[in-house]
Amino acid sequence: DSNIMQGAGGERVRVAMRVRPMMPHELNRGDENIITAPDNQHVLLSLKSGSKSFRFNAVLDDKARQADVFQQCGVHELINSALEGYSATIFAYGQTGSGKTYTMSGVEDKLGREGWTSDDNDGLFPRSVRHMWESMTMKPEQFYVKASFLEIYNEQLRDLLNPSSGILHCRWNVKNGFFVEDLMVVECTSQQDLIAVLHEGMKNRKSGSHELNKDSSRSHSILTVYLISETVSQEDGHIFKKYGKISFVDLAGSERLKESKSQGEMAKETGSINKSLFTLGKVISMLSSEKNPNNINQKYIPYRDSKLTMLLMDSLGGSSKALMIACVSPSHMWAEETISTLNYATRTM
Ligand code: ADP
Ligand code: MG
Repeated sequence: DSNIMQGAGGERVRVAMRVRPMMPHELNRGDENIITAPDNQHVLLSLKSGSKSFRFNAVLDDKARQADVFQQCGVHELINSALEGYSATIFAYGQTGSGKTYTMSGVEDKLGREGWTSDDNDGLFPRSVRHMWESMTMKPEQFYVKASFLEIYNEQLRDLLNPSSGILHCRWNVKNGFFVEDLMVVECTSQQDLIAVLHEGMKNRKSGSHELNKDSSRSHSILTVYLISETVSQEDGHIFKKYGKISFVDLAGSERLKESKSQGEMAKETGSINKSLFTLGKVISMLSSEKNPNNINQKYIPYRDSKLTMLLMDSLGGSSKALMIACVSPSHMWAEETISTLNYATRTM
């Protein structure tokens, strides 16, 4: 496929889109559904000005269930590659209320609550955890699993597993590249430990946004699972280690991108510019527009322009894989936002 970059093990960046169902208040208001998906790669928007069609690697319509999203977006491939020592990232992009958190994690109101049990609403993260454990038990290597969960708000970093640590700093060294100084990385010895990380982080994201009077739709959250494997050589007992990881990124509402552009023109210094969302679009489209991944001169890719792209630098270039899921609402009320989301997603292909 000419649109998609072919790395050694398939595409580098896959782009999917998902339409959420109409919400009760939209149905009561009599909103029109403007989105149809003729097949699982095409989507058609019915607009006043005519219809507009888009093509993606996967298209999930409003009837798609969470399990379908996991399967059709090929999430198991990203996990397998992380288990083999590579880096992978899954992004949820879209306006506030379009289903990013639902797709990534599950029903937001239930996350972080006591008494949560796994169900059909589980998003990609809990499903990925299950897949990881099934795969790890079948592999000969010994695996060590760790996780971290952070938030980027106004280009400031906060630890969602240790909120009292305040604002953290992004540092760089030869061994690790960019990393977050003092970020809590917790060891996970069971699936439940990882699910607890999700819940703890979601709880802190919510309470932190109330306390600091923040608008959580402006923040990005990154939940990273580190998969470290060890193999002992039969011959000399030498231990081979592989460091894989997979990050689940729930991006700020894409309506913030417009705001950042207009503010960027008026006042470049404004703290509320969502640089990360803007830079991510540039970085991903540069990475995937190159036909030959080995020809990209990493120097010209503006990773350093935002915290998000700095932190994901080693997960976006080279042999890593990324999946971007563009989430949209089916309602005519959001037609303009939907077009801009699908345009952003198309540019990243
Ligand atoms: P976002 O994170 O993009 O702001 P949410 O994931 O919170 O949006 O979704 C907004 C609302 O729509 C929530 O109540 C969520 O549970 C619901 N929702 C989103 N996608 C779906 C879906 N595919 N099926 C059922 N409910 C959904
Ligand atoms: Mg959300």
